[in-house]
Amino acid sequence: MTAPEQSGAPPVPRVTPLDEHFWRGGATGRLLILRCDRCGFWLHPPGPVCRRCLALTLTPTAVSGRGRVRTVTVNHQPWFPALPVPYALAIVELEEQEGLQFLTRLVDCRPETVRAGLAVTVRFEPHGDVHLPLFAPASTDAAPTDAAPTDAGVQR
Ligand SMILES: [Zn+2]
Repeated sequence: MTAPEQSGAPPVPRVTPLDEHFWRGGATGRLLILRCDRCGFWLHPPGPVCRRCLALTLTPTAVSGRGRVRTVTVNHQPWFPALPVPYALAIVELEEQEGLQFLTRLVDCRPETVRAGLAVTVRFEPHGDVHLPLFAPASTDAAPTDAAPTDAGVQR
C-alpha cells in the first residue's frame, strides 16, 4: 500500500507482476483470479504455485463476480476524509470455490443492515489504472429494509 495522498483518499495498492490481473482486470469489467491450468483450483492471494497440486501453470481467469458476505464490520472512524463514514468492510467469499475470499468494502448499501450471508456482486472503483474490486448487494438483496418480518395483515 502506498501512503495516503494529500486528497485524503484511501491508499491504492501497489501493483506487482503477480497481482496486476487482480487490480487491473476491472478496467474491462472482469474480476480476474489466478486459476490452475491443471486442476482448476482458484488461487487467491496470488502466488506462483498452485496450493492444491503444485503446478506452476496458473492463468488469470474471470470469475462470476458473485459471492456472499462471510463476516462484516462497520467502520465509523474517518481515516480518510475522501471516504465518508460509516462504511462496511467485509470478507466476501466468491461462489466459485469455498474459501476463495478477500477483504473488501461494501457499497450501495446501508452498512448497519449488512449481515453474513448477504449475496453480493462485484463493482469496480477506478483509481488511475487500479480498479478496486468492491461489492454491492446482489439485485435480489438490493433493497434492504428495516422492516422485520411481522404478522401484520395476517388475521387469525
Ligand atoms: Zn492445481
